[in-house]
Amino acid sequence: QTGANDLQTKADRLVQMSICASLARKFPKVTIIGEEELSTDEVNEELIEDGHCEEILKKPCPAQYSGIKEEELVIWVDPLDGTKEYTEGLLDHVTVLIGIAYGGKAIAGVINQPYYNYEAGANAALGRTIWGVLGIGAFGFQLTEAPAGKHIVVTTRSHSSALVNDCISALNPDTVIRVGGAGNKIIQLIEGKASAYVFASPGCKKWDTCAPEAILHAVGGKITDMHGNSFQYNKEVKHMNSAGVLATLRNYDYYASRIPNTVKQSLVP
Ligand code: AMP
Ligand code: MG
Ligand code: MG
Repeated sequence: QTGANDLQTKADRLVQMSICASLARKFPKVTIIGEEELSTDEVNEELIEDGHCEEILKKPCPAQYSGIKEEELVIWVDPLDGTKEYTEGLLDHVTVLIGIAYGGKAIAGVINQPYYNYEAGANAALGRTIWGVLGIGAFGFQLTEAPAGKHIVVTTRSHSSALVNDCISALNPDTVIRVGGAGNKIIQLIEGKASAYVFASPGCKKWDTCAPEAILHAVGGKITDMHGNSFQYNKEVKHMNSAGVLATLRNYDYYASRIPNTVKQSLVP
């Protein structure tokens, strides 16, 4: 545990070791940035995954990416997003996020939800993987529009602040959904459960937004900070999304135009 607001469990460390060591072995020139600081001990061979996904490899590579070199890619890994909720047993808030950036832009992402359906009974398949690539689309879920004419805002459950709440009040939403995880909140948007993800706080990091951003953009959504700036994912960028997060599948301008100036002034990019 690194702090009450920033938990780290054995699961976070093991999953990160598995993902990062497996990727580094297969793609040694790629830059991989994971949330957890791990000692560079020997990697347990049992953690190495060397399979691949046929479904993805069947899709043609978009022309604009066919010339990319391995060393030009940056992979942002959040081994366990929604750790606070995980420790409280809210297992379906948990996701594993792997985002791929090229030229500072999020171009592909995976959101794995290991406990999806965990309360749906023994016959339901446990877990799912949502993935997307700009120029190909996003898969593993049913794209659904949020109810028309309703303003349903999804935000943090465990990292609220006066600013977070003031910003939401200013949007005068019909409903506020409080759930854990950045990955989980983007799922709420693409499955039509919420119309905007609003987080007026500096707590979110690049590994929280890279994979979700790629998937959201692949289906025509938009994600920025509270000022409307897009996020950069080159390897030199600072990790903190210090000006907050605003994301929608549709009607981005409606929400962006209603963010109070006082909120913007409190969040310096
Ligand atoms: P949440 O919406 O609270 O689940 O936050 C989304 C992501 O941002 C999670 O990975 C959180 O750990 C992280 N995060 C948000 N706010 C904070 C904070 N105040 N301190 C540490 N991490 C935060
Ligand atoms: Mg996270
Ligand atoms: Mg995490």
